[in-house]
Amino acid sequence: MDTLSLKAMAKINLGLDVVRRLPSGYHEVRMVMQTIGLYDMLSFTKVGSGITIETDQVSLPGDENNLIYKAARLFEETYGLPSGVSIRLEKRIPMAAGMAGGSTDAAATFVGLNTLFAKGISREELSGLSVKVGADVPYCIMGGTMLSEGIGEILTPLPAPPSCHVLIAKPDIDVSTKYVYENLHANELKHHPDMDAVIAAIRGGDLSGMCTSLENVLETVTGREYPVIGRIEEQMKACGAKAALMSGSGPTVFGLFERKEDAEKAKAALREDKLAKDLFVTAFTDKTCVPV
Ligand code: ATP
Repeated sequence: MDTLSLKAMAKINLGLDVVRRLPSGYHEVRMVMQTIGLYDMLSFTKVGSGITIETDQVSLPGDENNLIYKAARLFEETYGLPSGVSIRLEKRIPMAAGMAGGSTDAAATFVGLNTLFAKGISREELSGLSVKVGADVPYCIMGGTMLSEGIGEILTPLPAPPSCHVLIAKPDIDVSTKYVYENLHANELKHHPDMDAVIAAIRGGDLSGMCTSLENVLETVTGREYPVIGRIEEQMKACGAKAALMSGSGPTVFGLFERKEDAEKAKAALREDKLAKDLFVTAFTDKTCVPV
């Protein structure tokens, strides 16, 4: 095999709590991660020597800052590569959006190199190594539905939540994850989302119970700064969403719908009102880093 293409899936957070700020400056989180069907495409080709990356985004160079490069270098240093590799990225997941786009590209790089060079390393082992590239990368290698704790690297598998239609809406604003965490003042929070209720509802296959418990503590910062987030949520709910919530540190908002027509109606309304630029109707999935 000389070439391989993989779909690197995005994630949303079915609830997000920040438990506390650690003395190290990192934040201890408690969140449910869920893979969705929106993906970036990564193609790997064996070449004579070196690691080269090509992307279809001018704003995202394929240099050593790209998480794909960091993952490929770490893989090479740890397991060795018998030849060089050229990696091409087609970006579909909105960037800096709270959907782990960079982390999933890094995850797909570990999985892709493992498959292309027939190294036979388990996803569990790759996942353990990958935390050096980023706290969300281990989850992105495993995918599915997981409770994520610690700084994001302690993963507990959960059953898949009841299926529904997911509308993704990213407003045309840029949010800095660093700014959001710094302005949360995690150790002074009076209220925390009830993540145990979310987990119990998922375990019980109770979509309504899950939807009523969903909360993202980071919305107290991003939502206050950008009222468009609340307006998108209101529009989704007016169109029939059972829940509408910000993912990660934002600004992406997702809505959960029982009926696909309602998700499509909300998508059209958000476009019409110019509340969001990037809009996708998708679904939960339990697979990530899938060969095509
Ligand atoms: P998270 O949900 O993990 O917070 P995010 O969606 O907020 O992720 P990303 O899209 O992963 O953010 O990217 C954050 C930054 O990382 C970007 O601004 C970009 O400069 C840098 N980056 C490096 N490599 C990549 C990549 N392959 N894809 C996207 N961003 C990358």
